[in-house]
Amino acid sequence: MRKAVFPGSFDPITIGHFDIVERAVNLFDKIVIAIGTNANKKYMFDLEQRKKFAKAAFSQFKNVEVIAYEGLTVDLCKLENARFILRGLRNPADFEFEKAIAHTNRKLAEIETVFLLTSSGKSYISSSIVRDVIRNGGDYTLFVPEAVRV
Ligand code: ADP
Repeated sequence: MRKAVFPGSFDPITIGHFDIVERAVNLFDKIVIAIGTNANKKYMFDLEQRKKFAKAAFSQFKNVEVIAYEGLTVDLCKLENARFILRGLRNPADFEFEKAIAHTNRKLAEIETVFLLTSSGKSYISSSIVRDVIRNGGDYTLFVPEAVRV
């Protein structure tokens, strides 16, 4: 079974994340959306909220599961019996950052990272900008799946 873990903060999930998953469901038998929890990181949405948004956003996909995790993504992959990590690439900065992580993960656990390029028109969307729009009372609904309403 081709199973992929899609790790991220998803704080909150955006239509950019959704786009990657929507296209990847045809490439894998199962996708596990793995919401990272890092005690040192400040989130706008707590873990329960981030999970709720993601679960609701992907409820239409039978082969997508949403879980939370702590620690190394490769350890989660072993636990889940997943040979692939799924990540999205928006721009050259993402590429540089992701390249180092992907090499590290392959060295650590022979896990292959599969990258999908963001669909055109969605590459400017990031959770951090969405958080800024929310904080300042802008129309964040343009950038998130319908399941995300704050
Ligand atoms: P992280 O904190 O791990 O970067 P994010 O939730 O910001 O977590 O992102 C998770 C994954 O989704 C990353 O691979 C990121 O590149 C990808 N991603 C984020 N925004 C977009 C977007 N607009 N289009 C495509 N991929 C995206």
